Amino acid sequence: MMYADLHLHSHFSDGTYSPEELAAHARNQRLAAVALTDHDSVEGCARMATACDQLGVECVPGTELTAEHEGNELHLLGYFLDTRHPRLLRELARFQGVRQNRIREIVARLNHLQVPLQSEAVFALANCRSPGRPHVARALVRAGLCGTLDEAFDRFLKKHRPAWVPKCKMLAAEAIQLLHEAGGLAIMAHPGLNHNDKLIPQMVAAGLDGLECFHTKHSPAATVHYLALAKKYALLVTGGSDCHGHNKGRPLIGTIRLPHEHVTRLRERAAQLGAHAAQAPAPASLPNRPVPPQVSEFTPSPPSPWAAV
Ligand SMILES: [Zn+2]
Ligand SMILES: [Zn+2]
Repeated sequence: MMYADLHLHSHFSDGTYSPEELAAHARNQRLAAVALTDHDSVEGCARMATACDQLGVECVPGTELTAEHEGNELHLLGYFLDTRHPRLLRELARFQGVRQNRIREIVARLNHLQVPLQSEAVFALANCRSPGRPHVARALVRAGLCGTLDEAFDRFLKKHRPAWVPKCKMLAAEAIQLLHEAGGLAIMAHPGLNHNDKLIPQMVAAGLDGLECFHTKHSPAATVHYLALAKKYALLVTGGSDCHGHNKGRPLIGTIRLPHEHVTRLRERAAQLGAHAAQAPAPASLPNRPVPPQVSEFTPSPPSPWAAV
């Protein structure tokens, strides 16, 4: 049997491994295929593809977008994307700017609470364009302001804790359209964490292609439940560990083993969509929105001293 893990984060977002390290772990775990799905980023995909190629592992270029639908947050995985698609790159840059501004706001709230952290410390530690709360937590621990990452989240960073800042998200229907426009498939990530299955038919109506039925945070019963829903709505099935390296506990790569036949189905569907897109007129582009200021000095450089925290 051949297996895949289609949900991995590298240090281009909030994972701790480089793409090369992820490829090596994939090989050690005897995975036939992997997908890199960094938050709001496809920057690591080219390096991941090269590293996987050298090790004989199939690599699916991807990303994970944070979106919302009627007040519900949901994550959408994009697979088989054209990682050089101009509008995809423009939109990702816009959301990376949103993430960077959110870090500044979180730090401002911490400062207001007399916690002397500087946003520069978070950006230096993150060393990527898609910083998130896990980077703030690590910066707090590194500065000796919190004992553990859990403490940082529990005291300050979790939803409704005093330094939590709501995140500005793209509309889910727009995110699905964007992933399609970039030649990719749109998959609902870890539906079990949404606690709202009504989102599934609504997203199907918006063009959703599949459901991440296998995920480390799904119980066996949840997996069976989402496999049944995938069948009901004629959706593709995916699965992945959501490995963040040494962030969020132990490295998880390979703990979800998706039968490879699902990767074949995903690839076939992406090829079909690509053929359709080549025939169809170009979709109308979304209204232009202001682009938040970009911080250009975060050129990720491998590997950083992640494990030190
Ligand atoms: Zn997610
Ligand atoms: Zn993820």
